Amino acid sequence: REFAELIKKAPSEVVRDLLFMKYMLKINDVLPFEVAQKLADKYGINIEKKVENKGELPEEEKDDPASLKPRPPIVTVMGHVDHGKTSLLDAIRNTNVTAKEVGGITQHIGASTVELNGKKIVFLDTPGHEAFTSMRSRGAQVTDIAVLVVAADDGVMPQTIEAINHAKAAKVPIIVAINKIDKPEANPDRVKQELAEYGLIPEEWGGDTICIPVSALKKQGINDLLEMILLVAEMQELKANPDKKARGIVIEARLDKGRGPVATAIVQSGTLRVGDAIIVGTAYGKVRAMFDDKGKRLKEAGPSTPVEVIGLSEVPEAGDLLVVVDDEKKARELAEARKEKMKETRFVSQKVTLEDLFNQMQQGNIKELNVIIKADVQGSVEALKQAILKLSSNELRVNVLHEGVGIITETDVMLAAASNAIIIGFNVRPDSKAKDLAEREKVDIRLYRIIYDVIDDIEKALKGLLEPEY
Ligand code: GDP
Repeated sequence: REFAELIKKAPSEVVRDLLFMKYMLKINDVLPFEVAQKLADKYGINIEKKVENKGELPEEEKDDPASLKPRPPIVTVMGHVDHGKTSLLDAIRNTNVTAKEVGGITQHIGASTVELNGKKIVFLDTPGHEAFTSMRSRGAQVTDIAVLVVAADDGVMPQTIEAINHAKAAKVPIIVAINKIDKPEANPDRVKQELAEYGLIPEEWGGDTICIPVSALKKQGINDLLEMILLVAEMQELKANPDKKARGIVIEARLDKGRGPVATAIVQSGTLRVGDAIIVGTAYGKVRAMFDDKGKRLKEAGPSTPVEVIGLSEVPEAGDLLVVVDDEKKARELAEARKEKMKETRFVSQKVTLEDLFNQMQQGNIKELNVIIKADVQGSVEALKQAILKLSSNELRVNVLHEGVGIITETDVMLAAASNAIIIGFNVRPDSKAKDLAEREKVDIRLYRIIYDVIDDIEKALKGLLEPEY
């Protein structure tokens, strides 16, 4: 009706013309732009789409390759509970206090910078693959290298395997720290053997996984580990342009009684300066002051620098993007527009589902299907994995990102959300948290009791023949 009124025609006439064009629309239906365009062509009028660019962040300035400078690596420590992640982070921070920093008290801001031979490494303070993948499911990947801690007296455990698969899914290189080598029952060779079973073949056995024996307790091997991190970083050629407006990612944020909202961000590109107007999620403001992890006041922070930022209107969330804009007014307008938009729709990007697989393949949107398998027994996990991998074809590669015995957990769903994967449960169900998260993130969880049905469904999906499930 609105369209008809705009072009001064009777709505019934427009509806009839639409019908001739094989569009069955009623007077009050929404007219898609593509269809309006066809109508306009028919009537010989010009129409234009009004692009509402509300709350869109400015695009990042393109970098001239010559402007890129090396930046320090950002590292996350992962591994099974009690294998020594926290102890290792402490050992790294404490053995690496350079002379000029002595007296500077380490502040917990969410990340710490250590230095070896004049080169910096940034460690995220929250260890574990859950934090890592939860950021990633929000579209934020800050980690360049994962250090996988495996206790030499305990070996590869379920969360070790999860950590390996989460890092692999994110395509982040893994360095293994074989910890607790001070213990009499330590058996690093057994750890290496177990790692090899999960595709991490140690270098000394001809593979490319670096394994460093360490003791977080006795502070042994720490420098070797740092050296290896720098070596891997060098091979990655991590670079960023420091000479432009900064962009970064929030890794922690809180409300401080005296200072108001405080956010720790890691600068990803450009240089953040005191006085810069910033927008962070739906918060905005001007950088009033910045502090590093030693509590030192900074005037500016370049790529890979973790900084506490003060001056925001509200507390942002971990994973939020920090962007410098021209002035504070612009920052406020953007923040307000984004808030409005969030009220209207909570943005959840479209995830792959088995039902929609064929469509997405046809549109060329998807070239691989990522799958997570959970089953009640190891035998079923293996059988399913082998059968599913066989479904790979030239049109679609099938990857199994993670597989395991046990119920479907929140962590599985996070990984699926972060890597656009579907989850197949065989004789297992999601727990309630996992179910809720899957609903929110629109992750497709499929539950089966017969292996044949799994294969049959995927085959049908590949051909576009799968009946929707309600
Ligand atoms: P996380 O759960 O992975 O963060 O593990 P923690 O760092 O909390 O360590 C778990 C336990 O292992 C603690 O009791 C530590 O004291 C102990 N631990 C950590 N590293 C070492 C080590 O190198 N040698 C020995 N003997 N014990 C360690």
